[in-house]
Amino acid sequence: MTEDREVDVLIVGAGFAGIGMGIQLARRGRNSFVIIEQADDVGGTWRDNRYPGVSCDVPSHLYSFSFRPNPNWSRVFAEGGEIHAYLRECVAEEGLSGRLRLNCALEEAAWDEGRARWRVRTSRGHFTARSLVIATGRLSEPKIPAIKNLDGFGGRWWHSARWNAKVSLVGKRVGLIGTGASAIQILPRLVTEASDVVVFQRSAPYILPRGDREYSREEMERFAADPSTVTELRESLFEEAERGFGARQRRHPDIDLLRQRALDHLTASVPDPELRRRLMPDYEIGCKRILFSDDYYAALRRDHVRLESTSLARIADDGARRGTGGTRGGSRVVVAAGGASYELDVLVLATGFNSTRPSIAGHIRGRWSRMLSDEWRNGMAAHASTTVHGFPNMYVLDGPNAALGHNSAIYMIETQVGYVLHALDHLQDSGAAALDVTAEAVGSYMNDIDAMARDTVWTRGGCTSWYRDERTGRVTLLWPASATSFAERLATFAPAEYEHLDSRG
Ligand code: NAP
Repeated sequence: MTEDREVDVLIVGAGFAGIGMGIQLARRGRNSFVIIEQADDVGGTWRDNRYPGVSCDVPSHLYSFSFRPNPNWSRVFAEGGEIHAYLRECVAEEGLSGRLRLNCALEEAAWDEGRARWRVRTSRGHFTARSLVIATGRLSEPKIPAIKNLDGFGGRWWHSARWNAKVSLVGKRVGLIGTGASAIQILPRLVTEASDVVVFQRSAPYILPRGDREYSREEMERFAADPSTVTELRESLFEEAERGFGARQRRHPDIDLLRQRALDHLTASVPDPELRRRLMPDYEIGCKRILFSDDYYAALRRDHVRLESTSLARIADDGARRGTGGTRGGSRVVVAAGGASYELDVLVLATGFNSTRPSIAGHIRGRWSRMLSDEWRNGMAAHASTTVHGFPNMYVLDGPNAALGHNSAIYMIETQVGYVLHALDHLQDSGAAALDVTAEAVGSYMNDIDAMARDTVWTRGGCTSWYRDERTGRVTLLWPASATSFAERLATFAPAEYEHLDSRG
């Protein structure tokens, strides 16, 4: 079924950001909006990531909407399925179901200067929208690394965010590629099924104890009976996380304490000095995301688990085709960069996401017919982490400089949603047809980002990470300061930073 429709706001993506935006529009009686979602369900990350052990390493009472507290979180760090259920419940209970268009992919959004509207072509018809909110996420496009001859692998392989639940891993020889936040959650479950596991580690992560536990029935009853207890818990979790920002500044004394906590965890968990040496990170703590786990090191120590300290470089040539006894249909022998080879049945690529060059940018055409991907050819940039020069009435949530390394992403999303609401109010009150942020405002904001990032672990920590753009080395994904300072920066909408456009239609 296709439709042609005119709406005030078109939201692209039904993950945390798109749903949060939709809830706030609906609660304000701004009912002329639609949320389009290319998948067949809402939930974003929590719909896509279904690997065994998937959960959130930010406490659930903090990793949820402040305006929709949930007294029923079953544990401190909820599993992915529970977070997905929470988001589905948000959609149903906030009356968003009727505004959702599932299986509806954005094909092109083009700014119509004459009418001052976005013309949006989707797989389910056309929309015209005064404002466009891009909420497609930053960790949504799986990154498949350059593993030579990967298609020649004779077993099965998949990315962590595209888990193939149809293939049983019981008794299989499995290679786990990567040691990021996804991999360290997968390994402890993987080792209970697979007969052999090889972990390909390119860089050793810093890991802190996690301290997960179930909430008792009494605690959940108390949360339900007295909502102020949930608010208090949320606030204390927020403050605790905020205190962690100090340790991201290179000369701050907290960094030594934090590093020592991680190394103590390693020492206590891994008695073998040789294995411990190979698990020692060679960059400053916090440069890559700090991981939390109580069972990763224990899983690595199991007899049937091997740690390969170099990356997976290639799949061996298929011997069958050359008549030397390999498997028909591809080789199961994989070769690490260090030269060691392993025979494996399954490869799990926990290799992260394309975050610096979001593919949606190749589908959005702004003023002067300029593509967003061209505007961002040297890296993503936005004013207030949200608006892009030449793309009037367009707001990007969870995009440039809106991620955090030390606190909850949901707080950042709520802050951005608040900024968008201010902008929509101003648009209405000012009588302008559209607001286009000036190039100067974007430039000045990005200079501030560079200055804030200058002496942090993200630029000086001696690592590569998805927080920085590989073309320039600039921090383009992360907000390199405290969450509170982000809220302060976005608290007011300054009209002078925007060109006010008239409709010529
Ligand atoms: P990631 O942090 O980008 O980690 C990817 C891993 O793959 C890295 O260890 C990387 O090594 C490795 N890698 C890439 N190519 C490789 C190769 N050819 N051989 C060996 N290793 C290779 O990805 P992720 O673990 O999916 O996590 C991404 C982000 O998602 C996290 O930073 C976090 O923000 C979010 N996340 C959050 C949670 C949570 O609980 N909140 C859970 C999962 C994910 P290098 O480090 O050397 O590049």
